[in-house]
Amino acid sequence: MLARDESILYAALTYRDRYTDGDYMPDQTNVYDGGCGCGEVRFRMESRPLIVHCCHCSWCQRQNGSAFAVNALIEADRVQLLQGNVVDIEVPSPSGANQRISRCPSCQVAVWSYYLVMFGGIGELVRFIRVGALDDPSRLPPDVHIFTASKQPWVTLPPDIPAEEEYYVTEKTWSADSLARRAVLLSSVQR
Ligand SMILES: [Zn+2]
Ligand SMILES: [Zn+2]
Repeated sequence: MLARDESILYAALTYRDRYTDGDYMPDQTNVYDGGCGCGEVRFRMESRPLIVHCCHCSWCQRQNGSAFAVNALIEADRVQLLQGNVVDIEVPSPSGANQRISRCPSCQVAVWSYYLVMFGGIGELVRFIRVGALDDPSRLPPDVHIFTASKQPWVTLPPDIPAEEEYYVTEKTWSADSLARRAVLLSSVQR
């Protein structure tokens, strides 16, 4: 038990060491841990995501072998790799630019991805966390359903959650807090 306590203490110290310069502080009440299928890769989202997408596009259906994909968008520097490493593969995406998917090298389960041309040049700075790879996916239900024009006919959408036939207007869909976080990302690439 002592070793475990020491490792928790060490993690706390590492947190503090990383953020003592007035930078963003992780929100300890909104931490989300996850991992791959074999346990080799473990990661942590250090705050609430910007938004959670449920995407019904045919690309997500094919790439997941399922009816939709659920992704939590979050700043890349708020995702901590706790254990293991990921390997990136690139797959085509509807924009014509590739989506880079990060997978466990052993079990090949995807833990997150990047859309390289999204968001006015900040695609590299935003990770699409696979919500199903979190230890408790129920903590992050979708904020919006997108590309519902191609959703499977047997999927019934909840009436109280926004749904778009294709994509949405970010300024109208993201919370004020998330838009402020996006502004920080945009300013970092427009310098
Ligand atoms: Zn694995
Ligand atoms: Zn999609």
